[in-house]
Amino acid sequence: MKILILGSGGREYSIARAIKNEEAEHELFFQPGNGATNNLGTNLDIKDYNDLAAFAKENEIDLTIVGPEAPLVDGVVDIFKAEGLTIFGPGKEAAQLEGSKVYMKNFLAKYDIPTAKYIESDSIEELFAFTNRLQTPIVVKADGLCGGKGVIIAQSHDEAKKAISEMLSGKSFGDAGKKVIVEEFLDGYELSMFAVCDGKDYILLPAAQDHKRLLDGDKGPNTGGMGAYAPTPLVDEALYQKVRERIIRPTLEGMQKEGAPFEGVLFIGIMVVNGEPVTLEFNVRFGDPECEILMPLMTSSVSDMFYKAATKRLGEIKVEFSDQYAVGVVMASENYPYGPSTPAEIILDDVKHKEIEENTHISFAGVTMEDGKLYATGGRVLVCVGLGESIKEARDRAYMRCGQVHFAGKKLRTDIAYQAL
Ligand code: AMP
Repeated sequence: MKILILGSGGREYSIARAIKNEEAEHELFFQPGNGATNNLGTNLDIKDYNDLAAFAKENEIDLTIVGPEAPLVDGVVDIFKAEGLTIFGPGKEAAQLEGSKVYMKNFLAKYDIPTAKYIESDSIEELFAFTNRLQTPIVVKADGLCGGKGVIIAQSHDEAKKAISEMLSGKSFGDAGKKVIVEEFLDGYELSMFAVCDGKDYILLPAAQDHKRLLDGDKGPNTGGMGAYAPTPLVDEALYQKVRERIIRPTLEGMQKEGAPFEGVLFIGIMVVNGEPVTLEFNVRFGDPECEILMPLMTSSVSDMFYKAATKRLGEIKVEFSDQYAVGVVMASENYPYGPSTPAEIILDDVKHKEIEENTHISFAGVTMEDGKLYATGGRVLVCVGLGESIKEARDRAYMRCGQVHFAGKKLRTDIAYQAL
């Protein structure tokens, strides 16, 4: 197939890498890709979605896969479909499950899907009144996309009210904060689950755990994610079954009733409270770095799964996973997540150790290629992925690979997967 991948991160790199490792040969294109994806295919520079759809038509692209949320919320899928192109991802309306937390919470409430008790409003009086009824901590969320920063866990009623006022006034998140959600705090442990959906059928991938904070021991500021591992032993068959029955099935049925069948990756942020899964949030695409550890665990064809999902034929295939574990460790730039860093040349040692060569790899993200040299130019630069028969083995291998990557100011957590160990 000729496959176009939208995005520029480690997530998109890992999808491309998995497709390149298949027996069948595929030709890959990236919009825009990064300094390493051009080793796997051709990087494009076509920002306008209508022009991109025209390119896909002219070049007989068989399948387009959308990585990040922004193009989905902007409606790239609708534009491609209107041209008769095959594209994997939700349309603009279904993407509201991520684009608007108010849409998502009201959807969950309407279809009786477990989630934290909440109120959504643009009235400061209503929001304050509900806040007064809650115990601390109190969760305050801006409605729209805020790059993962729109959630405040307030430790006091005053702090919650300050966050509400700043969101409503537009001070903290602009238009994204015009509507606000206040909800009860859920105490439990967090998981990410990913269902690849075709509107009706779905394939549930092994559950993963992400590490959002910058520093070891879950300290420091929130980031896009500093590492992940899967499958997590925190999930047993009974919990998978509850997620299927109480969250995924009613979500797919509900979205059909809403006239916006969900096609694409349903990323379910789950808090497990006293053994019961509660929906924290939906995203409508893969997590990054979760994608980087899930792709190498798939032993059946990744491109076929996306193609079948995009053509509503998921029911025809069986997707298979390896029984190994995967651990991914993010290496970030010096000033991440506070601001940009000076570009730094990346030196990759030759991997001489056979065990490491065979059981690790790198998914490249914030990198640029110049005169044949690779530079760290983004916040999260790359992800070292280790595979193994146990989480510990996978993690040890991932960290050995990290030791062979050098750039000035490199930063990483040393405790990825600690909750499982
Ligand atoms: P969200 O973008 O809604 O997933 O929120 C980001 C993070 O805030 C989540 O990953 C949780 O760690 C935390 N969070 C969100 N909502 C709640 C809640 N109701 N109770 C506890 N933690 C929450």
